[in-house]
Amino acid sequence: MLLLDDLRDRVRKAVADLVEPVTVTLPRDDGSWVKGVNVSLIDQLTEAVATGLERGGGRRSGGPGLPICVAAVDLYAEAFDDFRAPGFTLKQSIEAIPATLAGIEDIAVLTRGLRMLQKLEASIERLFAPVKKVPLHGAICPMCDADSIVRDDELGEKVRMPALVADTVNGAECRNCKQSWSAENLEILAQLLTLGKE
Ligand SMILES: [Zn+2]
Repeated sequence: MLLLDDLRDRVRKAVADLVEPVTVTLPRDDGSWVKGVNVSLIDQLTEAVATGLERGGGRRSGGPGLPICVAAVDLYAEAFDDFRAPGFTLKQSIEAIPATLAGIEDIAVLTRGLRMLQKLEASIERLFAPVKKVPLHGAICPMCDADSIVRDDELGEKVRMPALVADTVNGAECRNCKQSWSAENLEILAQLLTLGKE
């Protein structure tokens, strides 16, 4: 019975991880981190799917938000097949799981359910993982020659920060002149930066 109880606890925890609001830690432009509360993972997934469907009318055929929406639609469809009870939304179906646990005595069934919940959680987290921007300290923008910009921080104080920031998904951007380099062109930017130092 101990094993059954433990499994049921872990299923409850996995359900809570999916349907309860989540605390998030996000990177700020200056490299520090800020904490906030976001809606649940399932709500995030549902919103991403709704946004993707709104855009489906051909109004926007590209744009930075699109790949995540396609992935979200696939993931939502998979979760819908795995968990959805007839007449209920995906979230309601998952929320209802703990109430059914007492009647399940089969360890294999509980283990399989737990794995499916944990896999869904990991997939949604991977989908929305924030991309960390790296400020390029000391780099001089090849377009506008700026090496830094001045911005107001949350207390209204002027702070100086590097003009160029880069990440592996969006590439690099100059926050002074707004010139951007796609991730495929990061190598060209790196060459320009090296040339500027000679
Ligand atoms: Zn620039």
